[in-house]
Order: sequence, then C-alpha cells, then structure tokens
Amino acid sequence: MSAVVVGGGLAGLVAARELLQAGESVDLYEADDFLGGLVARQPLGGTLVDGGAEAFAVRTSIVADLCAELGLEVAEPQGQPHIWWPEAPHVWPMANGVLGIPGSLDDPSLLGALTPEERAEAGRDAIMGGDVAADETRLGPLVEARLGRAVVERLVEPVTRGVYGRSPYDMDVDRSAPGLRDAMREHGSLMAAVSAIRQPGKAAVAQPVGGLFRLIDALAADIQRLGGRIHTGLDVRQVQRDGYGWEIRTRSGPLRADRVLLAVGARAAERLLTPLGISFEMPPTHPSFQALLSLRHPGLASGPVGSGVIVGRRDPRLVARALTHYSVKWPWAGHDGRHVVRLAYAASPTLTQALADASLLLGIELAERDVVDFAVLDWEMPTAMPPEDLAVLTEGLAHVDGLAVTGAWVAGNGIAAVVKAAQDVVA
Ligand SMILES: Cc1cc2nc3c(=O)[nH]c(=O)nc-3n(C[C@H](O)[C@H](O)[C@H](O)COP(=O)(O)OP(=O)(O)OC[C@H]3O[C@@H](n4cnc5c(N)ncnc54)[C@H](O)[C@@H]3O)c2cc1C
Repeated sequence: MSAVVVGGGLAGLVAARELLQAGESVDLYEADDFLGGLVARQPLGGTLVDGGAEAFAVRTSIVADLCAELGLEVAEPQGQPHIWWPEAPHVWPMANGVLGIPGSLDDPSLLGALTPEERAEAGRDAIMGGDVAADETRLGPLVEARLGRAVVERLVEPVTRGVYGRSPYDMDVDRSAPGLRDAMREHGSLMAAVSAIRQPGKAAVAQPVGGLFRLIDALAADIQRLGGRIHTGLDVRQVQRDGYGWEIRTRSGPLRADRVLLAVGARAAERLLTPLGISFEMPPTHPSFQALLSLRHPGLASGPVGSGVIVGRRDPRLVARALTHYSVKWPWAGHDGRHVVRLAYAASPTLTQALADASLLLGIELAERDVVDFAVLDWEMPTAMPPEDLAVLTEGLAHVDGLAVTGAWVAGNGIAAVVKAAQDVVA
C-alpha cells in the first residue's frame, strides 16, 4: 500500500510515521520550506526557542510516550506561573490545580487573590457534600456554586481565557476536565477532586529538553529512517480519485497513491475537499502574535514573575495578554546572562510596546539597550470543529475510499489531542 500525507505539521508527521510502521510506502508533502507548522523553531539571540507551541499537556501519557520512543528526554517547566490584575496586589500565583481551580485552601493563590471573607466562602466547599452542583455541566457555574464567584473571576477565568480563549461559563466540565465531577462525588468536595486528579506539585505540561520543536526534528529523522520520503516547499494543489486510487498534484507533477491523508489546516483542507464534493462548516481561527525578546538585564536574574503571568482582566496600561519568562520556565533557553521573554498579543506589537508591557508585567524598567534580539511571529490559532459539524464532515468522508483527515481543527487544538488523533486515524 502507498500513502500520501499532505501537511508536515505535527499531525502529518505523526500520521506518516504510523503509516510507515504499518508497512506502507509514504510520501509526505509540506508547503513550507520547513516542517512543524505551528510547532516552530525560532533563532533568537544566539539560541533556538519555540516560536509557536511550546509544551504538551501531560494529562495522558501519549506525547511523553512518543518522546520516549523517539529517544527525547522531557522535562517539566520551572518557576511558578502568575495572574496579573489591574488592581493591587496586581500579581498572585496561579492555583496549582486544574484549570485554575485550587486543590486546597492552603494553595498560595487564595491568599493573593481573595479577601478573608472570600476565602471563608471557598472553604464551604469542604463541608457542603459532594453532590452539591454535581449535575452542573458548565465549569463556571460549578466552581461558583462550590467556591464562590471570586474564585471563578480571579483564578479560573484568567486561565480559561488565557489558555483556551474561552469563558468558564461556556466550557463543558466533562470535556475540559474529564473525571472532575465523578471525583467530586467520590471525594466529597471540588477541591478534594482537583487534588485527586492533579497530584500537588506535579506540572500539567512538559517539553522535550531543548524545545518542543525537537519533537518535529525527531519525527522527521525517524520517518526518514523508516524509509519515508519528505518533500518540503511543495504544496499539494489537488487530490483526485480515479478507478485505481488517488492522483496527487503538486507543481513537480502528479503522483499516485492508494490513499491520501490530509493533515493541513481547515482552510487548506476546504480547498482540497470542495472539488471532491465534500463541504463543511469552517471552524474559525484567531490571530495570535508572539513577541520574542532576548534581553540582558540584572533584574531578570531573580525571575520576578516566575515562569510568567497571564493578564486576568483588561488593564488600560497593557496591550499584551500574557508574558512567559521562557528561560525561567525552560532553563536551557537562557545563556550568557541572556533571558528569553515571550509576550502574546492579538495584534502585531512594536518593540516599544513589547518593552513597555514587559516592564510593567515584570516590575523592572526595560529599555532598548537591554534588547539583544527581537522577533514577532504571526500565527492563526485553530479552533476545533463543534461535534455536529464534525459529524457532517465524517459523513462526507465516509463515502470516499482511501481519504482521511486529521489535525487540530478536527482533533481539538493542542499537541496531545493532535498526536492522539493522528495515531488513531491510521489505526
Ligand atoms: C502561538 C501558538 C501557541 C501554541 N501553544 C501550544 C502549546 O503550548 N501547547 C499545545 O498543546 N498547543 C499549542 N498550540 C496549538 C498547537 O500548536 C496545534 O494544535 C498543533 O501544532 C496543530 O498541528 P497540525 O499538524 O494539526 O497543524 P499545523 O501545525 O497547522 O500543520 C499543518 C501543515 O500543513 C501545511 N500545509 C497547508 N496546506 C498545505 C498544502 N496544500 N500542501 C502541503 N502542505 C500544506 C502547513 O504549511 C502546515 O505545516 C499553539 C498554537 C499557536 C498558534
């Protein structure tokens, strides 16, 4: 059997490797001159850092297992993440829990974020019994009923908006925190459920040592070792079925294969699927800009905000939505007194803006003389199709032999979801 994989992002590379392991002959086409898609290596100030995705969720072992198979050592992030608030005390630790929900009343996040009365309200969670609000399927109302509105507003919402771009009041508990409601019934309180699901002190994400982009390098090397052929700088313009299989068209001419796997984003998939009579509701993408700074400043050595801050509520003095002190979080990125700081924006920032935001969020005065290097990367953040639209697409694909689709827009946006779906689509 021969297969063509269209798209050399994480989904395409994982799927290509699976196909090769199943004994198929594989050609992978990537439109860009480099592999990785939204997982990207970025040279900055004499080192390499992640310009797009940087870490994978460890709720399941799927990505860690893949890294182990590929011989990659993985590490947890260092430093405490924080939340920024426009009013004093401005910065407090993010809860060591699930989606910003603390796992105990002793969590340091509660001291910074809540008044004594609000902490007392949160404490009622331990005595109200595990069934209260256990039928609530939305995250915001569940947390509000158990721990109070202040916990939702100052601890949970900054995380759900900052990480997933969503209000907790629109998020389904069972999809975003599987097992949480059952654990609440079993352990008698929401905080006990959180600490049962997430062992305190254990990070929620990890990265291959040296950067997430190392996973892309390792996958590409393994594909070549297994005999796969990788073609970069060649976009697939058309895929067409005939009586014997598939014809795949690129500017270097047609190629034939028994099956085709599309691992491109939603927009590119639409261009390839529409001529085959398969249509679907396009899930939206959101612009996401990453400003990367390599900085030399003595005030950075202490890691003033740990691994970083998410802006919890709009502050008129700030444009950035979040700051990651990348070289605190992933220590191998810092060298020769140079620090790496990443800022997330909804629109492209100037260096002046990035320095102003970094100065406020880090609490140190940064100037252009402190800048070793600066880059702004422009991404389109995918969103996953809602289940009803996915059902329509799946139905359309079911009528076409030898064609499958994978990637963040069908699997769910995120490294773990993308890897799992790319493995499953081949199985
Ligand atoms: C700024 C940013 C930060 C993120 N951070 C995280 C994070 O820390 N943790 C996490 O879990 N997730 C994160 N994500 C999400 C994660 O990066 C994605 O879910 C995942 O990388 C998507 O992989 P993919 O292979 O589905 O798509 P893509 O990476 O988009 O790959 C699709 C590939 O197809 C290629 N292509 C398109 N059309 C064609 C064609 N016609 N022919 C050939 N090739 C084509 C594209 O060039 C691209 O390389 C982040 C995303 C962004 C944008």
